[in-house]
Amino acid sequence: MRKIEHLGIAVKNLETSNELFEKLLGSAPYKEEEVVSEGVKTSFFKNGPNKIELLESITTDGPIAKFLEKKGEGVHHVAFEVEDIVKEIARLKSEGFAILNETPKKGADNKWVAFVHPKTSNGVLVELCQEITSQDL
Ligand code: ZN
Repeated sequence: MRKIEHLGIAVKNLETSNELFEKLLGSAPYKEEEVVSEGVKTSFFKNGPNKIELLESITTDGPIAKFLEKKGEGVHHVAFEVEDIVKEIARLKSEGFAILNETPKKGADNKWVAFVHPKTSNGVLVELCQEITSQDL
């Protein structure tokens, strides 16, 4: 794991939360993106070398909708940048972590992503992410 790439925060309303986080961080989101396969609408803020991702559900039964129902708004996942996501998935599996998707999938912000189940990581949903390069396409 190279570094924390971003923190993912589940919100009920992306528009009002964009305004709130713009006030908090002192800068506007640099991108908004829908990830239909995940049932979310996202926005990204830069904060120094790190990023904050806000996630609003666009479905009633997707992972963010379920999270909001159970826990309410708040920190949803911690994302780490990795050099080789396939190797990292294999390494974490061999260490006993439960991986939610063993094949990396396309996430927001031009990344391959995979998630570690919070039941094996002290309640923290961990996202692995690796930048998609032109070689992958
Ligand atoms: Zn994320």
